[in-house]
Amino acid sequence: MKAWRSVRRVVETLLDLLYPPHLYCICCGNLIDATRTYHLCDHCMAHIRWDTAPLQQLEKPVAETAEPQCMVQDADAANGGGYASAEKRKSAVGAADFFDADSGIPEMQKLRCVQYGLYERTLIFSLKYNGKKYIARDLAQIMADRLALAGLAFDLIVPVPMFLAKQQQRGFNHAALMGQHLGKLVGKPCYAKALLRTEHTLPMRGLSPTERKLNVKGKFALNRKYAGALKGKRILLLDDFYTTGSTAEACFAQLCEASPSAVYFLAFAAK
Ligand SMILES: [Zn+2]
Repeated sequence: MKAWRSVRRVVETLLDLLYPPHLYCICCGNLIDATRTYHLCDHCMAHIRWDTAPLQQLEKPVAETAEPQCMVQDADAANGGGYASAEKRKSAVGAADFFDADSGIPEMQKLRCVQYGLYERTLIFSLKYNGKKYIARDLAQIMADRLALAGLAFDLIVPVPMFLAKQQQRGFNHAALMGQHLGKLVGKPCYAKALLRTEHTLPMRGLSPTERKLNVKGKFALNRKYAGALKGKRILLLDDFYTTGSTAEACFAQLCEASPSAVYFLAFAAK
């Protein structure tokens, strides 16, 4: 595995030398000059739906809406994993609502950078499925600016974890990558292993809100090694998307086990 990672790093470095990422818009791939904010072309900059609302303005959608088209191929979908099979979806249904956190921790306040849509989804998919890890730096800068605009103070960052086998397959956890870049930008630690995803979960796309809740039920755990580091702290929980909030709420319940003083949720994109 180590040898394979080394080979992959060499290939990525060579590709960066051949095709310097800063010369291309991170969303549409058009040529840009180095002065562009977030390495976005004028067209994408104008079409991305930036959010400037204050904290807690992020509402849970009551119904699923159609997935927007995307400029980037979804590798999971191409492999048949983008939408859960009918059988898998059926097996995920059947239990009642399971959120019973009675921890005394204030309700999680939420923030998004952009409204979920074609351009916004393309940015994340380019990072997740096309392996363009350099995009995480720009997304982290967008997050840093968004946090500054909202005036949100926090002590540390905890990214939503991936199941280890899936992370090894992809080679990285995109949320952790964004969290690490964000941590450097804002001068806060990022604890990528503070939460663990203990079991494989189905891709959320294509699942109903109830199915999403059941899909993540019992699949996250607090890493007890970090309980002391999180106690009494203001945690910024970070993920790429926020749709029904199932993943965020499941992570919130686990983080509460460490008795933080507050948990905020930052999504790059949300509906
Ligand atoms: Zn563009």
